Amino acid sequence: MTFTVAVDGPAGSGKSSVSKQAARRLGFGYLDTGAAYRALAWHVIEQGGDTADADAVRAAAADFPYAISLDPDDYWVRVGGADVTAAIREPRVSAAVSGVARVPAVREQVNALFRALVDDSGRPGVVVEGRDITTVVAPDAPVRILLTASPSVRAARRSAELTTQDAASVADALHRRDAADSQVVDFLTAAAGVTVVDSTDLDFTQTVDAVLDIVAAASQQQGGSHER
Ligand code: C5P
Repeated sequence: MTFTVAVDGPAGSGKSSVSKQAARRLGFGYLDTGAAYRALAWHVIEQGGDTADADAVRAAAADFPYAISLDPDDYWVRVGGADVTAAIREPRVSAAVSGVARVPAVREQVNALFRALVDDSGRPGVVVEGRDITTVVAPDAPVRILLTASPSVRAARRSAELTTQDAASVADALHRRDAADSQVVDFLTAAAGVTVVDSTDLDFTQTVDAVLDIVAAASQQQGGSHER
């Protein structure tokens, strides 16, 4: 059985970079689940469709040759022959992705894919990050974490990543996406048994250490040795 570390949280919480670094330190795989929703949004747009149209989203999902690397040191995302690793981060995709995420059949399809990717990872464990990992994708995971940060800190972090846009429009896009996403999944309150890590006053290393401490404690309970 693959040891699953489930990490949920909103955009700009540091979820992706923290999960990736935790995976490196543990020798685990890293699965970015948001990339599947982003890649499907990219696929709909490429086909000239609109992600607000659930029929167009379902049609694109029916023919979606998706592949993702679980190697934290060699991260890539592909749709068919196209490497979309960079393209799926473009603001036009971020603005369209919530439309894809609100289609229940799509969520079921990608959740089955995520579980298969974890099972077939060939690694002792996988850090899986997203919005509904602790609640829907892997509710029985031995480690379940909600990574949060205050809205202003999240907007500042995201704006530091996206140098092509001004801070106000980044904050605006982020809050709009959070509002749309929170209608589908509640990723701001921790479900029962989920540990909250608030990174508002923590730097990157401290946040990774907080996650690794939780993994070490859970793994000790299981009689394992996922120490850092
Ligand atoms: O994590 P990231 O910001 O890349 O996620 C992109 C989008 O994918 C989110 O805004 C959300 O709409 C969707 N998502 C989701 N459930 C997940 C991961 C991402 O609905 N587990």
